Amino acid sequence: MSCQLRVLGCSGGIGGDNRTTAFLLNQNILIDAGTGVGDLQLSELLAIEHVFLTHAHLDHIACLPLLLDSVVGARTSPIYVYATAKTIELLRKHIFNWLIWPDFSTIPSAQQPSMVFVEQELGQPITLGEVTITPLPAVHTVPAVAFSFTSSQGSVVFSGDTIAGPDFWQAVNQLDALKALIIETAFADKEHQLADAAKHLCPSTLAEQLSHWRGNAEILITHLKPADSELTIQEVLALDHLHPIRRLLQGEIIEF
Ligand SMILES: [Zn+2]
Ligand SMILES: [Zn+2]
Repeated sequence: MSCQLRVLGCSGGIGGDNRTTAFLLNQNILIDAGTGVGDLQLSELLAIEHVFLTHAHLDHIACLPLLLDSVVGARTSPIYVYATAKTIELLRKHIFNWLIWPDFSTIPSAQQPSMVFVEQELGQPITLGEVTITPLPAVHTVPAVAFSFTSSQGSVVFSGDTIAGPDFWQAVNQLDALKALIIETAFADKEHQLADAAKHLCPSTLAEQLSHWRGNAEILITHLKPADSELTIQEVLALDHLHPIRRLLQGEIIEF
């Protein structure tokens, strides 16, 4: 059976139709919890059983506290939130601390919580139904991972926020039947210094990074900052690259 990855949000910001990073995988799995989650129907929110987080930055978690609050009491089982130990620590300390938001891992009780954190280590695959989700190395300003999603038909990789790097490409180069590589390019080249400081890619650094990739799947560009999204994608499309490359579209469904 094939799997479906639905793009709920793939912008680097908000405003108008822009939604920040979130994907719905096979109806019950959320990949990051940016503002795109807010467009789902309540029935779709209630179907979410698992949430995988690349990192703790707000544009990737903004809707997680609100999701939990919206479905508490209507679900009979907890939502499982998968992340690295460091990301879980950040969420506990800075979000679910009873100051910014209640600690849903103890609501309504510690014995029957609405949310259960699950620590996931780099390279450790977790299989849920038809899909296997594996965190891959990423380099960002805070602890972060990329993900591979694998079905019987092939794989899709999502870089999360990252400057990529040799460990990421080594992991990606080992994947068979890669169908698509979703990779960020947050900034235009005029913001090269800012991109480096924020550990995001811009078109010129994307080109450098792609030289380490031995695959030929389609490249889907995500996380464009809204103010320069057209400029950034034009710079990406003008790269002398060897791969099919285009902008990832909010609302599209990737089958694999
Ligand atoms: Zn980030
Ligand atoms: Zn981000």
